[in-house]
Amino acid sequence: PAASAPEAAPQALEVLSRVFGYESFRGNQQAIIEHVTGGGDAVVLMPTGGGKSLCYQIPALLRPGTGIVVSPLIALMADQVAALEAVGIRAAYLNSTLEPHEAAAVEQQLLAGELDLLYMAPERLVLPRTRDLLQRAPLALFAIDEAHCVSQWGHDFRPDYMGLAVLAGEFPSVPRMALTATATRATHEEMTQRLRMERAEHFVSSFDRPNIQYRITPKDRPRDQLLTLIRTEHEGEAGIVYCLSRRSVEQTAEWLAARGVPALPYHAGLDATVRHRHQERFLREDGLVMVATIAFGMGIDKPDVRFVAHLDLPKSIEGYYQETGRAGRDGQPSTAWLAFGLQDVVNQRRFIDASEGDDAFKRNARSHLDAMLALCETVTCRRVQLLRYFGQDSQPCGNCDTCLHPPVTWDGTVAAQKLLSAIIRLDREREQRFGAGQVIDVLLGRESERSTRSRHQELSVWGIGQELSDRQWRTVTRQLAARGIVEAVGEYGVLVPGSESGPVLRGEVTVELAEDRAPVQGRARGGSS
Ligand code: ADP
Ligand code: ZN
Repeated sequence: PAASAPEAAPQALEVLSRVFGYESFRGNQQAIIEHVTGGGDAVVLMPTGGGKSLCYQIPALLRPGTGIVVSPLIALMADQVAALEAVGIRAAYLNSTLEPHEAAAVEQQLLAGELDLLYMAPERLVLPRTRDLLQRAPLALFAIDEAHCVSQWGHDFRPDYMGLAVLAGEFPSVPRMALTATATRATHEEMTQRLRMERAEHFVSSFDRPNIQYRITPKDRPRDQLLTLIRTEHEGEAGIVYCLSRRSVEQTAEWLAARGVPALPYHAGLDATVRHRHQERFLREDGLVMVATIAFGMGIDKPDVRFVAHLDLPKSIEGYYQETGRAGRDGQPSTAWLAFGLQDVVNQRRFIDASEGDDAFKRNARSHLDAMLALCETVTCRRVQLLRYFGQDSQPCGNCDTCLHPPVTWDGTVAAQKLLSAIIRLDREREQRFGAGQVIDVLLGRESERSTRSRHQELSVWGIGQELSDRQWRTVTRQLAARGIVEAVGEYGVLVPGSESGPVLRGEVTVELAEDRAPVQGRARGGSS
């Protein structure tokens, strides 16, 4: 029989110190462990590094039978199991990397009740054969890790997670846990419903990661900006650099290596053995920089990653939060740095337009992108905005770029109207649609062969924007694009009036814009500010 909740408490603490060598529980860990050990279902929302693993490992040790851990991360299972075995836990995994006789041996151990924890991927678990096997085994619990993968609208959807709903009906007496570090209200609800966790208790931790300093900076010469960040603040420290494309991953890794930064590439197009070797080196060696696509990182437990840099805009706040969350799991000061420019908006919108999804999918993708853009262009505390996105209220943090160096704002209404007018005139009177560079040429009255040929000088908008520099106009354009006042469309990012342009043109709203900040320097290493 399962231990009841009251007596689980001292036992849990005893296991925590004897097996794992830790003195006390963090955050919600103890409440979760007591609830599940007592036989209840639990939905656990905890930020990356919060300590989710112990929440199912300890109940699995306290309850009779084996704890089944469902995880999408086949590549990490062997490591996870080895780490558990090292502290004397009887753990194993079942996945496609095992030889048939090895799998058979694990199955025998399971049936004999000789395992504390058994890891498997969802595609394995949903096979009738596996469910049959589990029916014959003594089970302590099911822990569904990375449970947000069941969300169709999320950024990591895995169809096999849908099949996990059958556990509710087939194993009614085995407690189930769904765990994730992704926590928008929508994902939370979808997860609960799809995994049939109606009767579960919900444990929602604060998503704040106070030791991470969030900084979003205008993209200028991104690699140079990154190199400056590394050399001035993170020399010799471990970090992850995210790029959108495989090509830019490889080029950036080479570029950094040529400048003395020990950098390795990682993306899904690399040979599996190379990928594995790079991942191993990153985990085991000090001070390596992993340059990667988002294929890298889920489940990676390296406590001393000191910075996460994005050279391209993430698709959503969920993705950004998860990726930056890989910094500073050890609680020490760390940097989340993102360089962001107009071209990012153009690229991301183009990806969405060109994607194969239906209208609902595209609408959803656009709203995710808009929220990310709003975070990039906010003039108030980044952390407040980030946490609000996850449904949590907070106060300005004092440890993000906008708190440390509040941006100077100005009334950009007239500038926005001029830019929109130029776009509209070019379209109506010349039937021309241009990208930002050429529209800005018109605003500045910069003559070129094209402007002469197209008689741009005769347009009423010619040269009406000379109060701002080329650079300032680019800043304005980026901010207006982020707010939907202009839109950059198509392969060349031609500018058209955005969905929010009407009230601006009619003078019904004022447009508050931020001056581009000089790049923010973080705290000097070892210093206090
Ligand atoms: P998550 O899965 O939520 O990202 P992990 O379970 O991998 O987080 O835990 C992150 C790190 O914190 C691990 O190194 C883990 O050993 C450590 N940890 C977890 N709980 C505690 C605790 N109560 N005391 C000390 N360290 C802990
Ligand atoms: Zn702040």
